[in-house]
Amino acid sequence: MARRARLRETASRLGPYLRRYRGTAILIVVLGAVAAAGGRLTLILIDPLVNLLFPEQPTAAVDRNGEASLLDRFSDGWLLPKLEGVSWFGWSPEVTTVAILVGLMVGAAVFFSILQYIFLRLSRMIGIWMIVDLRQDLAEHLLRLGMRFHGGRRIGDVVSRMTADVSTSLRLLNILVEELIQGPFNILASLFLAYAAAPTATLAMLVFIPLLAWPVMKIGPRVRRRSTRSQEKLGDTTQSLMEMLAGIRVVKAFRLEDFQAEEFRKANQEFVDQTDRMVRAQAASRGITAFIAQAGMGLIVGAMVLVQLAGMEIFSDAGKMTLFFLGIGTMFAHVKRLTKALSNIYVSMGATDRIFEVFDMPLDERAADQGAEFSGLHESIVFDGVGFDYGTGDRPALSEVSFTVRRGERIALVGPSGAGKSTLLDLLARFYEPTSGQIRVDGQPLEGVRRDQWLDRLAVVSQRPFLFQSTLAANVQLGRAAATEQEILQALEAAQLGDMVAELPEGLETEVGEQGARLSGGQAQRVTIARALLRDADLLLLDEATSALDSESERKVQEALHRLLAGRTAFVIAHRLSTIQDCDRIFVLEEGRIIEDGSHEELVAQGGVYARMWALQSLGEEPSPAEA
Ligand code: ADP
Repeated sequence: MARRARLRETASRLGPYLRRYRGTAILIVVLGAVAAAGGRLTLILIDPLVNLLFPEQPTAAVDRNGEASLLDRFSDGWLLPKLEGVSWFGWSPEVTTVAILVGLMVGAAVFFSILQYIFLRLSRMIGIWMIVDLRQDLAEHLLRLGMRFHGGRRIGDVVSRMTADVSTSLRLLNILVEELIQGPFNILASLFLAYAAAPTATLAMLVFIPLLAWPVMKIGPRVRRRSTRSQEKLGDTTQSLMEMLAGIRVVKAFRLEDFQAEEFRKANQEFVDQTDRMVRAQAASRGITAFIAQAGMGLIVGAMVLVQLAGMEIFSDAGKMTLFFLGIGTMFAHVKRLTKALSNIYVSMGATDRIFEVFDMPLDERAADQGAEFSGLHESIVFDGVGFDYGTGDRPALSEVSFTVRRGERIALVGPSGAGKSTLLDLLARFYEPTSGQIRVDGQPLEGVRRDQWLDRLAVVSQRPFLFQSTLAANVQLGRAAATEQEILQALEAAQLGDMVAELPEGLETEVGEQGARLSGGQAQRVTIARALLRDADLLLLDEATSALDSESERKVQEALHRLLAGRTAFVIAHRLSTIQDCDRIFVLEEGRIIEDGSHEELVAQGGVYARMWALQSLGEEPSPAEA
């Protein structure tokens, strides 16, 4: 029961993707049915053909009242008498009959093969269309999922769901569409053929069909569960690979190649083990089916021969017997193929389960364009007892954080790693909502403000510059889509990149490689600053780069930052004290709380944590306040 419910659920979730192509789908079913059944039924012409070889065989069955099989009536009672004595081109009547029968078979073959060709093309393509739609929806859903999903999710797992799981579903969908549509018609037509030739024998055969389907029904659910686990392990290997490549510099510098290779081998081995479990279940199910089919054939032939020897007529002539075995043989073959396809359904369902798991993750309830209008920051940003907990069971990332920042104030955030600086910026960027307390902007709660308009007034510059694989212009233009080329150039100049653009042969149209690989660290940093400058935001969230640049590059970045900060409200995570000079107030964070708050002079005079950090720096070596 549960199994049928799961099948229905999977079908109902894939249903909408099929419905878009309803017309094509109906055509596919009709074509598939006609091609399959027609192809099989043409074999009927084998009977009169074979009987030409055995003219002395009695066709007496026709005479026995009502006992005649369908085929007796069709071929011996109607077709053969019609062809009797017909002679073409001076051929003998036998040769003419053979020519006519073979001609009919070849003609039918041409017709049904063309149908089969169209059927296969359409059925493969409908699978592709559906899967592309599914992948698109999946990508859109992923983009709309909040940071709670992405923050805690491993990229490899998501990528694996988007690629491996989607292709597994597609591959199987194709087999399924073909087999599920044609299989039943192939089986019915073959069965009809056998029945037409030898009804009693065929009815005796029917018991074997449920026996053939039984192993699949029994073992299928196990295959599905193991398939899900196998796909999970495949996701782990993707994850391992991505980490390896993302961290390739670390790997090489620390000579971790062997260690990484070993980790990858382990992940792969787990995938192999898990897949082996799935394959075992699948193979067992197929093996049992094959056994029943083969043993069944032997038993049937034996039984039929015994019955006929005992005097009861099963086959009226050689043609009927040939057709009966042809029909039963084809039927068995198609039942096997169909059960194989059905067992593959379970593998596919394992993969689609993982895809639909992603769809089941709830999106942020509130649409970006709902809430109070926001036209810019006029007065202040207030944190009122704000706390935030990632829900990992550790201490909250922020607790009881309260402050008021006036418009135009620049705030430096300092404190050890893990103090909660990034979390504070993430709350302002609305990646997360506070779990306690409230953030207010110009007196109204931030969560009630339209998110699209809030983000329009905000610019983020992160510690690691991220450039998309596109042109320089396109990367800057992300700051404001409507910006003109002139404005883009101005932003680049303000970010101290004017000279660089002038020197590039392709100027603004220069492709910047993956993660801006063709630019130096300082240049990439300044491109992201240009992006923020172009946005002309009210509020800046800045995570200062930790890695030291050479002094010339550093000077240019500082200059660019200085222009960016001018006259704007800003929160800056300061990893080095150099940026702090530009800020009005400093918040010192520790374990999710603000422990000191004041200007540089005030804090130094206060003689607390910040004063000690500053003193250390004055001693000559520049310590990083983040690590102090
Ligand atoms: P900082 O920026 O000062 O280094 P963070 O704001 O990154 O500090 O981190 C504050 C605390 O929250 C740390 O204990 C960190 O482990 C935890 N944390 C940060 N990001 C996540 C996340 N995505 N999921 C769970 N815990 C997190």
